[in-house]
Amino acid sequence: MTADRAPRPPRSLDPIFSPASVAVIGASRNRGSIGFALVHNLVLAEFGGTIFPINPHASSVHSLKAYRSVLEVPDAIDLAVVAVPRDAVSGVVDECLEKGVRGLVTITAGFAETGAQGAALEAAIRDKVRAAGVRMVGPNCMGVINTDRGVTMNATFAPTPARRGSIGFVSQSGALGVAILNVASDLGIGLTQFASMGNKADVSGNDLLEYWEDDPATRVIAMYLESFGNPRRFTEIAKRVGRKKPILVVKSGRTSEGARAASSHTGAIAGTDVTVSAFLDQCGVLRATTIEELFDVARALDRCPLPRGHRVAIVTNAGGPAIMATDACVNLGLEMAELSPETRAALASFLPAEASVANPVDMIASATAEGYARSLETVLADPGVDMAMAINVTPLLTSPDDVLAAISSVAGSGGDGADGAGGTDGGGKPVLVVMMATEDFYERVKLDAGHPPIYRFPESAARALSMLVRYGEWRRRPDDAPAPGYAVEDAAVAAELARVDEGYLPPDAAHRVLDLYGVPLARWRLVAVGDGGVEAAIDAAVAAGAEIGFPVVAKAVAAELVHKSDVGAVAVDLRDEPALRRALAAIAGAVAAAGHRLDGFLLQELARGGHEVIFGISTDPRFGPLLMFGLGGKYVEVFQDVRFGVTPLDRIEAREMIRGIRGVQLLEGVRGEAAADFALLEEVLLRLAQLAQRHPRLRELDVNPFLAAADPKAAKALDVRIRVGPPPGPDGD
Ligand code: ADP
Ligand code: MG
Repeated sequence: MTADRAPRPPRSLDPIFSPASVAVIGASRNRGSIGFALVHNLVLAEFGGTIFPINPHASSVHSLKAYRSVLEVPDAIDLAVVAVPRDAVSGVVDECLEKGVRGLVTITAGFAETGAQGAALEAAIRDKVRAAGVRMVGPNCMGVINTDRGVTMNATFAPTPARRGSIGFVSQSGALGVAILNVASDLGIGLTQFASMGNKADVSGNDLLEYWEDDPATRVIAMYLESFGNPRRFTEIAKRVGRKKPILVVKSGRTSEGARAASSHTGAIAGTDVTVSAFLDQCGVLRATTIEELFDVARALDRCPLPRGHRVAIVTNAGGPAIMATDACVNLGLEMAELSPETRAALASFLPAEASVANPVDMIASATAEGYARSLETVLADPGVDMAMAINVTPLLTSPDDVLAAISSVAGSGGDGADGAGGTDGGGKPVLVVMMATEDFYERVKLDAGHPPIYRFPESAARALSMLVRYGEWRRRPDDAPAPGYAVEDAAVAAELARVDEGYLPPDAAHRVLDLYGVPLARWRLVAVGDGGVEAAIDAAVAAGAEIGFPVVAKAVAAELVHKSDVGAVAVDLRDEPALRRALAAIAGAVAAAGHRLDGFLLQELARGGHEVIFGISTDPRFGPLLMFGLGGKYVEVFQDVRFGVTPLDRIEAREMIRGIRGVQLLEGVRGEAAADFALLEEVLLRLAQLAQRHPRLRELDVNPFLAAADPKAAKALDVRIRVGPPPGPDGD
């Protein structure tokens, strides 16, 4: 199969994954201890090199000669696995470095995860390890596994051994690492390497991505993450590696950062979790919600060619599961393929009269293994089909093993169909199998990789198909479509942002920032309440309204008033001076009644037509500026039809954000309406992304509403709010 022993350049993690000798420091004779389990697992997995147990009080461990310290070992040691009490770790590491050990896996816990003292100890150990040019996994980890036939090393204390396979798995959590190995074993899934990262003092998930980047045996990279050490470096590496092989992530942990109070629309909707999803999306990384789902998708990515579109055909011997499958596929954005007349005729020629030859193809309960093979082959040959799901509810007369064998014989065919599209990965169309069978069937087939991935339920197969589609789309997406880089007077923008140290910018400053950044605004005038009091301000506002030209819109300006229309502080469509005067007086009364101090009035031209959308920026402490686009107006939080993106945002990402909202049809024009100017919306988003990136003091921005209109002259911002603060601190490691 794969040339998994192909030569490759030496890499810095080789001493950790492919050592010729391993010392287990803290090796123990006590069954049930970590120090025993480590030696036991190494022996059990038939480690291809030499094992040196290190224990000052024992002459042998697990029938192996033990040494009192690494310094007493007569031979060279490539890897040291450290499982001594916390306060002994530093001394042990010193001895390892003196011995010339090339890699360390520190199992011991009690470091950065326990507080400042532990963190200081961890940093000191990391520094000396790095200074010596040695790499270290951990501390506080479960260890590493390499199933490569030339190595076969299980340097973990996990109870479940790993099988050889094609998935590289890195877990940030040790406890979950055990669960991961269990699930993998239950599903019969094999791994190339497994690493539990622990505190990531030195080696991080990013290093693992690079380790697997050019490793031919690792076809899918899977990660269980709790945090991103350095999101920017992850982006760079994941975007590059993701072009070569799929990266799947389960990211847990909604942190408290996500729950921070926010008064802006964008801040209220944005939380750490949407940020993480947007970020992973932009990196081309697939996100699963559970370990089980991750493996479901990983199996499909490992064994199937990538689909060239999103049209799915279902072949089944039972109606109910096919309906469930159809629902699941459609809900996940897949399309039920429309079978061509030729395909239907071909199916009708060999299927019984009671069968349905439309999609889903229901061959009814009498379907034979042969029927599966012919039907699948027929639908896969249809140029309107990009992939197939075969569903089999164990029939009375046919064995599921025969059905599976028949499906396997035709899976992956159809790639050279009449559409003529040449596959990038050897052609063929993916086929996933749903077998509703008894337990003994799954037990029989799980260790055999020679068939398409099997699922117990249509929903899991549908999810896996949808992920194949997403990854396929990402792979086909042009590599690079950088944002244009707009010429802007950034010094003037910085001066406006500097008017406030921390808090909301006054409306005139906020308007000028947008204006300087080339975002179209409704014509506006600002009138402050001065020494003359509210009466004088109303007079001045009436004059300002006349200057703009009727009809106008009047709004209150009050420092702490965030949602003006909630308290009656917005009046639209004021057609003449008396109407404007009455509205201004009413607004002044409403603001006072709501307990706010009136700072002034904002007058605007009345904007008409189009749909209200929202553009927003919020700042995530780790990921930096976050852009938001969606359907706007008063009900933003109710519908939450928004998309997020992290900076830097390229043109395709901006386009995908805008086209990606659920209500995009509204902007495309329904019932005879003209479509909004999408090019302008994309440009506004890219301009705001540049603003966010160049001005880290801008912490939050809401343009809500922005009028998305067909006529570019009618498209403009109607309400803007900007919050500034000190720039966020520099990136961590
Ligand atoms: P807030 O969001 O503080 O309640 P807005 O300034 O967004 O106040 O105004 C509320 C609503 O009034 C907007 O969603 C929009 O429907 C309408 N509106 C505001 N300004 C204008 C304008 N210049 N032209 C037309 N309609 C407007
Ligand atoms: Mg508003």
